[in-house]
Amino acid sequence: MEVTIIGTGYVGLTTGVCLADSGHNVICIDVNENIVLNINNGKPHIYEPNLEEILNRVLNKKSFKASTNLDEALNKAEIVLIAVGTPSMGGEIDLKYIKQVAENIGKWIKNTGKRIPLVIKSTVVPTTTDTFFKDILENSSDYKHPHFGLGMNPEFLREGSAVSDFNYPDRLVFGSEDDMTLDALKRLYKYFDCHKILVNTRTAEFIKYVNNSLLAMQISFSNEMANLANNIKNIDYQDVLEGVLSDHRWNTPKLKNSSSPEIAKYLVPGCGFGGSCLPKDVEAIVNIGNKKGLKMEILKSVLEINREQPKRIIRLLNDEIRNLENRFSILVLGLSFKPNTNDIRYSPAKVIIESLIEKNIRIYAHDPIASSDFQNQYFPNEKNIKFLKEWKDKIDQVDVIIIVTTWSEYKDLNYLANNNHIIVDPRRMLDKDNLNCKSYRSIGYSFD
Ligand code: NAD
Repeated sequence: MEVTIIGTGYVGLTTGVCLADSGHNVICIDVNENIVLNINNGKPHIYEPNLEEILNRVLNKKSFKASTNLDEALNKAEIVLIAVGTPSMGGEIDLKYIKQVAENIGKWIKNTGKRIPLVIKSTVVPTTTDTFFKDILENSSDYKHPHFGLGMNPEFLREGSAVSDFNYPDRLVFGSEDDMTLDALKRLYKYFDCHKILVNTRTAEFIKYVNNSLLAMQISFSNEMANLANNIKNIDYQDVLEGVLSDHRWNTPKLKNSSSPEIAKYLVPGCGFGGSCLPKDVEAIVNIGNKKGLKMEILKSVLEINREQPKRIIRLLNDEIRNLENRFSILVLGLSFKPNTNDIRYSPAKVIIESLIEKNIRIYAHDPIASSDFQNQYFPNEKNIKFLKEWKDKIDQVDVIIIVTTWSEYKDLNYLANNNHIIVDPRRMLDKDNLNCKSYRSIGYSFD
C-alpha cells in the first residue's frame, strides 16, 4: 500500500519504518527540514533500539523516504496516518498541529477532489476525530464526510522499545466512521497477527486514555504506598509487592507460578512517571471530565502524587543528612524520563536537579544519550551543574549518587560504590545486600 504519515517523531518515524519494512511504500512528512534531511541520510533524530538499522534497510530498498512536500505525498497515498504532537497547554490538550494538518489536507482535497482515508494516530481526546477534525476538513475542502474517510488508530508503543512494540502489538484498535477507512486499516495491518478491535473513533480515542490513566494510577498508587512504607520504617516494599503479586488474580495464565507479571513494572515505586504521554494524557482527560461536570478526583490525585514524587527523592536525602547545603557534591545518573530513550519531556530528573540547585549543591549529571538535549533545554546557563561524558571517573569525588533513570550501565555501581557514598536508588536497581556504601536509600525501603 502507498502510505503517507504526517508527523515524523517517535510515533510517526517508528510507524513509518516498520510499515515500510513490512512491505508498504511509506512517505513520512515533517515540517522540520533538518529532521527530514537527517532521516533521509539514515540518521534518525530520535534514539530507539534497532530504529537506525531498519531505517537504513528501508531507505536502501527505496520503500521509505522522508519529505516536507505534503501535496506530493498525498497525491500518491492510499491511506494517511497523522502522528503530530498533541501537547498539553495549561492542562488542556493542544490540537494546533492537528488543526494545521486538517487545514492542509482539506485544501488539497478541495484542489484534487480525491477520496482518501484519513486516520489519526496521535493521542486525541474523545470526539476530536468525528467533530473537531471532521469540521475543519469539511470547511476547508468544501466536501462532506464520507467523501474523505475518518479513522482513529491509537498507538500503544513505549519509548525505549518502540520498534518491537510496534511490530508485535498486543492489540490493534481500528476506530472508523466509514467502510473506506476500515477497509484501508485492515489492508494496512493485514500482516499483524493480533487481536483487532473494531470500534467507532470516539471509543478508539477513549481506549487510549483509559489505558494510560490506568497505568498512571498504578504508578501513583504504588508510590503512595511505598512513601508510607518509608515513613513507617523497617518495611521493604519489594517484599510487600511480592506478597501482593503472588495472588493468582494478578498473574496472567501465561505467567502462572510467576510472581512478576508484566504489569508489576508499573507497581515498582520510583521518581514518578514522566515522558511525553502519561502526564499530559492524564491532564487532558481530567480537563475533559471537568468540562463534562465530573470532578475526576482519582486522576487529580494521581497527578498530585506524581508532581510530589521527585521531591521525595530529596526528602530521602534530607532524612540522611541534616544540612545538605554547601557540603556535598551529588552525582545524578540518568536524565531521560526512562532508560533506552533520549526523550527528556517531563523527566523527573529536571525537578530533582532544580531542588538541588535551590540548595546550592554542586551537581554532576550524566546520561548515556540525553545529556546535551537536557542541558540545552532545561539548564543552559546553570553554573552549579557539570554534565559528564563519563561518570565513572567522577565517583570518587562525590558524596551522594542518585540513580534517577535505570540505564543498565549504572548497575556497575554494584562494584564501583565505596564506603564514602550515600546511594539513592529509588527503583532498586542495585544489589543493596552486597553494596559497599555509607548508606543506601530507596523509595519503599527505609531501615535504621
Ligand atoms: P513528536 O513530538 O516526537 O513528533 C511530532 C512531529 O510532528 C514533530 O517532528 C513535528 O515537527 C511534526 N509536526 C508538527 N506539525 C506538523 C505538521 N503540520 N506537518 C507535519 N509534521 C508536523 O511526537 P510523538 O512523541 O511522536 O507523539 C505523537 C503523538 O503520538 C502524540 O499525540 C502522542 O501523545 C502520541 N503517542 C506518543 C507515544 C510516545 O511514546 N512518544 C506513544 C503513543 C502515542
